[in-house]
Amino acid sequence: MADYDVDLFVIGGGSGGVRAARIAAEHGARVTVAEEYRLGGTCVIRGCVPKKLLVYASRFRGEFEDAAGFGWTVPQMSFDWTTLIANKDREIARLEAAYGATLNRAGVKVVKSRALLLDAHTAQMANGDRVRAAYILIATGGAPSYGDSIPGIEHAISSNEAFHLPEFPRRVVIQGGGYIAVEFAGIFAGLGSHVTLIYRGENILRGFDDDVRQHLRVEMEARGIRVLTGCKVAAIEKAEGHYSVRLSSGNHVPAERVMFAPGRHPNVAKLGLKEAAVEIAKNGGVAVDEYSRTTVQNIYAVGDVTNRINLTPVAIREGHAFADTVFGGKPTAVDHTTVPTAVFSEPEVGTVGLTETQARARLARTDVYKAMFKPLKATLSGRDTSVLMKLVVDGLSDRVVGCHMVGEGAAEMAQVAAIAVKMGATKADFDETIALHPTAAEELVTMRKKTASYAREAAE
Ligand SMILES: Cc1cc2nc3c(=O)[nH]c(=O)nc-3n(C[C@H](O)[C@H](O)[C@H](O)COP(=O)(O)OP(=O)(O)OC[C@H]3O[C@@H](n4cnc5c(N)ncnc54)[C@H](O)[C@@H]3O)c2cc1C
Repeated sequence: MADYDVDLFVIGGGSGGVRAARIAAEHGARVTVAEEYRLGGTCVIRGCVPKKLLVYASRFRGEFEDAAGFGWTVPQMSFDWTTLIANKDREIARLEAAYGATLNRAGVKVVKSRALLLDAHTAQMANGDRVRAAYILIATGGAPSYGDSIPGIEHAISSNEAFHLPEFPRRVVIQGGGYIAVEFAGIFAGLGSHVTLIYRGENILRGFDDDVRQHLRVEMEARGIRVLTGCKVAAIEKAEGHYSVRLSSGNHVPAERVMFAPGRHPNVAKLGLKEAAVEIAKNGGVAVDEYSRTTVQNIYAVGDVTNRINLTPVAIREGHAFADTVFGGKPTAVDHTTVPTAVFSEPEVGTVGLTETQARARLARTDVYKAMFKPLKATLSGRDTSVLMKLVVDGLSDRVVGCHMVGEGAAEMAQVAAIAVKMGATKADFDETIALHPTAAEELVTMRKKTASYAREAAE
């Protein structure tokens, strides 16, 4: 590799790129990372972390409301958006600096610039500087899509801008039914906005278990979020001091802010991929094999730019596996099955494994165990809410293949349940485990009665 300026050139200093760069350097590689915006990438700067901070902020409303049943008198609530955003920004800046320090300690050079490929071994920075690298890692992530171009789309914001609004909007319209749309609906509603969520499909959270989708929708509506499905935004018209959002149904909804969150696309444009002969897959991301190698033998890609499973821990795992494979002498493929995930809505969703629909399509027999109950806290708070717990079981092997929860702490529960599901625990193993009382999670080991059992229907 002596003919090259570096052993590894990483494009993108987000979750996947930073992990890959650090581990490659620890394996002895000379590494440079180019980052065009801020180190840490989407997750740290305008994704998971700031989002969760806003989610925490939004949940205080429910806590204050619930407190009365427990004997507390809470003075008149008031909320200051400017304070929240300033505090959030301070924490994000601290994390960004920590990422820089980690790379620095590992001996990784960071170039604050956009980079593109000129050929399979050459990257060019915005100022024209070139770097010749033995290996190149594309870790450029993804970006918000706006969906259809409609009149007035220029007035819409994406999740990127939602983190930096100068003023707190009292009325918000959000278009989208995925986890980002649903989470921001909860954030704005919890902080005090009137929120209308608009989704063209039949129900929110496509791809999640149908019971989860329905349960969450009911809970969101009970918290005052208006959920309109089967329609979309047709135009955003500027009215005096606000926007008038025209829906495909012909109705108008007033809004101070209109957010579009119909999905995200991989950052593959203007990267020089064609020049380097890197191919794009059918899913719109960079095409890779199980070791994250692209169609060019010295170029790899990890994270959202490959559009496999777009989650931070997956990007990190792929980046680590790449570095071990190429620089650690330990070829490592990432197992993309049974990845737990959460929606930080209010209430929260935690899930791992197959949905009931997926299981019924794949397994000869599917057993379903379901429980819906009022959480203990709601007895005194008087809140009209219920928790959903659902286990999807392979009826022949008794393995638990899916675990789905909606309720307080669902994300934390999903992370722990994922270990059992990944290890192949059976329903009998769950039943054998003594409950931890009083918790919501104990329901996972006390669901004795099958709710339903299905044999796979023969293909026609
Ligand atoms: C609002 C929101 C909430 C989310 N919440 C969660 C969550 O709760 N849990 C979870 O697991 N995931 C969450 N995600 C997804 C998560 O953020 C991503 O999966 C993760 O950041 C992907 O990491 P990555 O390394 O592939 O890309 P990124 O983190 O996006 O990093 C890519 C980096 O490349 C840089 N870049 C792009 N092009 C170039 C170029 N040509 N030259 C130089 N630099 C370039 C970008 O500036 C960026 O910093 C969320 C995402 C969003 C948007």
